[in-house]
Amino acid sequence: MRGGCRPGAAEVSRVHELSIATEVYRTSRAAVAEHGGGRLVCVRLAVGELTAIEPELLGFAWEALLAGSGDAGARLDVEWRPARQHCPACAAAKPRGDGSWLRLCPDCGQPLTVEGGDELDVLSVEFEQDGGEGHD
Ligand SMILES: [Zn+2]
Repeated sequence: MRGGCRPGAAEVSRVHELSIATEVYRTSRAAVAEHGGGRLVCVRLAVGELTAIEPELLGFAWEALLAGSGDAGARLDVEWRPARQHCPACAAAKPRGDGSWLRLCPDCGQPLTVEGGDELDVLSVEFEQDGGEGHD
C-alpha cells in the first residue's frame, strides 16, 4: 500500500526511469539550445507499453532531476502508446490476450508480429526564451 502523494526514496531512485528522464532532459535541452536557448516549460514524450517504463515513476524522476535546475517545474507529458499484435497471414490485427502476449495467431496459428509499443520519442519541447520580458 502506498499512502500520501509522494513516493518513497527507493521509488524515486529507480534506475530505469531516472536514466530515461536524464536522456529525455538532455534531448530537450539540446532542442532548446538549437532554438536560441531558454527555460523548459513542457516536454511531450511518447512512451510505448513495452518499454517497461512506469509513467508515474518517470514523472517523479523528472521532477527530481529538474529540481534545483533552471528548468525546475517544467512539465513532462507522457503519451502512452499501446503495442498492437498483427497477423501477417490474416492481414488483421489480433486482440491482446489477458496476461501475457500470445505469440501465435489464435485463428491460423502463424506467428504474430508486434507493432508499436516500443516508442520512446520526444514529441515536442516547449520553452520560453531567456530574459523574454518584452513582447513581439
Ligand atoms: Zn492469422
